[in-house]
Amino acid sequence: MKSSFVVAALIALVLSACASVGSKPPLAEAAKPRALILISIDGFRADYLDRGVTPVLSSLAASGVRAAAMRPSFPSVTFPNHYTIVTGLRPDHHGIVNNTIEDAAMPGKVFKLSDHDVMTDPRWWNEGEPIWVGAEKAGVRTATLFWPGSEVEIRGVRPADWAAYDKTLAYTERVDRVLAWLDRTGETRPRFVTMYFESVDTQGHGFGPDSAEVSAALGDVDKALGRLVDGLRARGVEGSTDIVIVSDHGMAPTSQARVIDNDKIVDAQDARFAWYGRPFVGLEPLAGRTTQAEKALLGRHDHYDCWRKGEIPARHHFGTHRRIPSIFCLADVGWIFMSKSRPDTYPADGGAHGYDEGAPEMAGLFVASGPSFRKGATIPAFDNVDVYPMLARLLGVPAAANDSDPAGLSAALAP
Ligand code: AMP
Ligand code: ZN
Ligand code: ZN
Repeated sequence: MKSSFVVAALIALVLSACASVGSKPPLAEAAKPRALILISIDGFRADYLDRGVTPVLSSLAASGVRAAAMRPSFPSVTFPNHYTIVTGLRPDHHGIVNNTIEDAAMPGKVFKLSDHDVMTDPRWWNEGEPIWVGAEKAGVRTATLFWPGSEVEIRGVRPADWAAYDKTLAYTERVDRVLAWLDRTGETRPRFVTMYFESVDTQGHGFGPDSAEVSAALGDVDKALGRLVDGLRARGVEGSTDIVIVSDHGMAPTSQARVIDNDKIVDAQDARFAWYGRPFVGLEPLAGRTTQAEKALLGRHDHYDCWRKGEIPARHHFGTHRRIPSIFCLADVGWIFMSKSRPDTYPADGGAHGYDEGAPEMAGLFVASGPSFRKGATIPAFDNVDVYPMLARLLGVPAAANDSDPAGLSAALAP
């Protein structure tokens, strides 16, 4: 009787010990709530994932979700699309309608990536509410190691931790800074973090999407992702960290054999160029010259189309914002507008983006892995406006009004 009681008590003790081992996560995870890291690899075209040079990204996709493609919003350039990803608004609605912008409401000011003072004027950005603003307002701490707009006090709010964009900052240092943020405990530990890598885009412009230089840049970014994943694992927080990896657009090969001469599309007496893009240009007729400018420009031409801003095909969701020039011209994929009189940053024989957002060459990346996501799933192509409500849902913060599909990205989330 006595010995059977001891045996029963021992069994009970062992069982309860097993139960507590099984149900309790390791200490580090228990102490840290779920975090979400949003990573942008600028200019990562959807099919780069199948090049065999990004093993870490492939393993994240295998353990989580990958989309066949993420369609950018129009125009398929960097600042408009980064702001779309974090606001769920089309560029026509959030107001960052290009990388270079003028606004009649801000005479004499030109928004451009190289002019930090003008670019960080909140008036350019305030028409959207990026996820970090909504999160901070809801008491969810955020930290950004680069994202367009994150240096700006938008609607009076900036991420709790942010840094001025520095393209020379080594990728290892970027990863280590993010890991240091996640090492914090208590109220200063961020629950939402962004990261940004530019070299795949830079090499895509310089050497074209099919180049060895792009493959090398893909390898560099993948190594940084490996350092991040290893760092999370070493800290015991891999299982409590969601990672979402996206790109803003793809890249199309360009050639000096496919150049549209800006000096020939309209007489300089009839219109001025407000936007000098390679895949698109924007023009303003000069005083009293609208008829002449429209006659030269509007309609279909060899390798490009021009529209009045209000007549751009509806599927682009582009043309109502006051910052868009009166006449907008878009080149066929792979063709570029160039001016002999204007020096260019990149060679004609390289790559460009900014084309029709439905073109396969413009398709971007979506990979997500972590406890909130399905395991080993591939989802169909979707529009990048759908990322924002998913981020809001994962962070448990209210989503501001946006342009996403209500069903959105629920197919990516674990049941
Ligand atoms: P794009 O002209 O569309 O190819 O723009 C890509 C460039 O944007 C990259 O070369 C980056 O250096 C630059 N960029 C990305 N994020 C920022 C930022 N937060 N501030 C200034 N420039 C940026
Ligand atoms: Zn970009
Ligand atoms: Zn680019």
